[in-house]
Formats: sequence, C-alpha cells, structure tokens
Amino acid sequence: MKLVLKYGGTSISSSKDIKNIAKHIQNLSKKNNLVIVCSAISDTTDDLIEISQAIKKENKKKAEQLAKKISNRHSQLAKKTVKKSQIRKKLLQTFDEYFSELLALIDGMVLLGEVTPRSLDYLFSFGERLSIQLISAAINDIGKKSIPLTGKEVGIVTDSNFGESKPLMDTTKLRVSKTLDSLFLKKVIPVVGGFVGADQHGHVTTFGRGGSDYSATIIGSCIKADKIWLMSDVDGLMTADPKIVKDAKLLKEVSYIEAIEMAMFGAKQIHPRTFEPLLSKKIPMQIRSSFNINNEGTLVTSSPSLDAKNTVKCVSCVSQTGLIDIRGGSMVGTPGTAAKIFSTLAKAGVNVMMISQNPSESSITIVVKNTDLDKAVNTLELELLGKIIKKLEVTTDMAIIALIGSGMRGTVGVASKVFGSMAKNKVNVSMITQGSSELNLAFVVKSPDASTAVRAIHSEFELSKIN
Ligand code: ASP
Ligand code: MG
Repeated sequence: MKLVLKYGGTSISSSKDIKNIAKHIQNLSKKNNLVIVCSAISDTTDDLIEISQAIKKENKKKAEQLAKKISNRHSQLAKKTVKKSQIRKKLLQTFDEYFSELLALIDGMVLLGEVTPRSLDYLFSFGERLSIQLISAAINDIGKKSIPLTGKEVGIVTDSNFGESKPLMDTTKLRVSKTLDSLFLKKVIPVVGGFVGADQHGHVTTFGRGGSDYSATIIGSCIKADKIWLMSDVDGLMTADPKIVKDAKLLKEVSYIEAIEMAMFGAKQIHPRTFEPLLSKKIPMQIRSSFNINNEGTLVTSSPSLDAKNTVKCVSCVSQTGLIDIRGGSMVGTPGTAAKIFSTLAKAGVNVMMISQNPSESSITIVVKNTDLDKAVNTLELELLGKIIKKLEVTTDMAIIALIGSGMRGTVGVASKVFGSMAKNKVNVSMITQGSSELNLAFVVKSPDASTAVRAIHSEFELSKIN
C-alpha cells in the first residue's frame, strides 16, 4: 500500500513520542511504501510569527532571543532522541547552520526594514525545515534509511501568492511522483516538510496556517496514495467538543463534504483546502491519534457506508464573534446594496462568517470574528452610514452554533427539532442561516448560552448513540 502519514506538531514534540513514531514507521514500512509529512514542532511556527512581529517593531534583540529559543528546543530534542553519535553530530551541525541562516535572515529583514509576504514565508519555512531533519534522523537512528525533503525539494510548485499559495498541480504531480517513486525503489523513507512549497522562480511559499494537512493530500494525490493518515493529538472527528459535551462520541465515518464543513467549525483544526486534492481521486483519509495507534479514528471517504448516514453528525460552536445588523434607508429594492456593503468590508480585510437578509430587504445581518468587529463597524460607518445605511446595531459576545450532516438534506423536521430544543432550554436565537445544500444549519446565540445550546442539540439528535 502507498501510505502518506502526516504528523502534527504536538505529535513530534517530545523525544519519547518521536522515538515511538520512528518505530511505528519502521513497522509500517515493512509492508508499505511510506511518505512522512511533518508539521513544525509545537510552538515553533508561533515563535517564528513572533519573530516577524519583533522585526516589524525593529526589536532585533527580541527576534534573536526567539531564534535562540527555537534553536535550543531542537538541539535538546536531538540530543535526547538520537543515540548514534555520527547521526547526532550531523544533525546538530545542520541545526547550527540553520540557526546562522536564521540570524542572517533576521539581520537582513531588520536592515531593510521590510517585512514582505515573500520574506515572511521564507522565515516561516524554518519550522518544517528543522522538524524534518529531526524526524528523519530518528528513523535513521533505528537503522532505517530515510531522507528529509522540504516541500520545494520534493517538488511542490505553487503560484506566487505568498502566505496563501495554491499548488500548480500538473507540474507538482510530475515532480513529486518522480522524486518519490525513485525513493520507493531504493527503500528510502522520505520525510517531507509540510506547509511549504516554492513558486516557479524557486521562491519559498506557504499554504497558510495548518498547511501541512494540505501538503499531505497534495502529495497523496500526486502519487495516487491508497490512503492518507492525518496523525495528531486527537482521536478523530467528534460529535461535539468533548470539553462541552461529556458523552461526545468519535465519528467513525464521514464524507468529504461533511469533513470540509467540520474542518471549518470543528474542534479539530484542519486546513480548509485539505480535502480538495482527494475529491477526484477518492483517496480515503483517516484522522487519528499518534498517541493511540490502536484506535482507527475517523474515516473520511467519498461514500460513507449507509449506517453512517445520520441526519446530523455533529454540533460545534464558534464563540468570540459579533453580530452587526445593518438597516437601510435606501436598501429596500435597490440592486447593488449588498455588493457595496460586502466590497467595503472586503477592502478593509474583514472576513464575514455568516450573512442573512430578510426578504423585505430592510436589513442585512452579518457575523464577524471579535477581532474584526471594530474594523468592520468603523469602515461601514465611515463609508456607508448616512448613504445607503441608516443604522448599525452591534451585538458583541455572540457564538455561532453549527449542525453538520448530509443526512439533513430533504429531511423534514430538523429545524423544528433544533429550535424547539432552544425554546425548551430558554435560549434565544438571534440569527439563522442554512444554505440550500442543507449540509450545515447554523444559528447565533449569546456566548453564555453557547454550551447549553450545544448540549441541547447533542441530546436532541441523540448524538451520543451515533455509532
Ligand atoms: N507549522 C504550520 C503551522 O503551525 C503548518 C502546520 O502545522 O500544519 O501553521
Ligand atoms: Mg498543525
């Protein structure tokens, strides 16, 4: 079997875990061709982002301290993990070289006073450059041949949209399959850095936060993998956040489209584009825990088995959002009003999470993240108040509750169950949306009511009995 195994940062952050993973990989490699994809080790990408903020503030000392912190973290892990002195020496040497390069980069960025998306991607790529060296060395250390490859080295070619690049699949496919097929023949296990690729000029690009998931599926699709395992610190996708609902259950099977919705709303963060490369080739994915390898986790496929087609599969909640009700003078019956509102928000860089407009057209309600709320209100006031908008009403401290499940489509009575249970629990609903795909039903409540709402839905649809 061709298998792509992707490890998240928390799965590779202690020496004990890295050693266990190396052994697991060694075992699996007896019967399968493996490609390992790694995130950066926990906290490393966050530290790199902090370095970029320090550079922006011209605080070179702080940036260098953070670089030192990253360097120490990796050297210590290397010393604890790798036993064979030659492998260890070479690894530490590589880390030293990367550290010098990182300091030189900080120097250059401070000197130029320029933090461009392109230089940021180069800076952020250090996390995965370091982690693959460590994981590959750990595999070598137990006597199995392995080499580290960055996204660029394996052959991932992207557009030049730094910070949020997309792969150019035709070129990528040719290059990645060539690189990896030759390694399969030599029985060498490639450890590829996630999150990162390079554009056609060879400049390093990234896919955005959490992008290693996406790297894994891009690679999986290039080599027509039989399966992709997304290994992290959670057992899989759940019917609800277990911190809110005690009897939340692991979902055994979901479809790609459900998983896409869950990736956006669920407790397990997955890069939103992750499933795209799998759709056409129908490559199944298992989301599972690296700490609990006997548990098979959640299987994501194009066609889940019949008994996995429950109406509602999970309920999740996004808090720290605010609601803006936009009332209009000349909004009613005026084409282009919504376009003006949303283009104004887009220009200000505000991401709109939910939208609803009543058919009388007298108001449009939107939900944005708390962090975008001030920006959204300011631009709307500045640009449109007194013109097409008469009044803005803002409600802070709101939460979005989302129900996901493809079985909702065409099922009568879902809404009545949902809102009936809110009424029973005396939870007021401020806004409702449901796309015509009926895959996702979402509504907004006050933040202090969010947990009650989630628990009520969970029990109303008997999600604890789902499997
Ligand atoms: N290291 C990157 C991040 O923290 C990519 C990833 O973990 O998937 O966002
Ligand atoms: Mg991650």
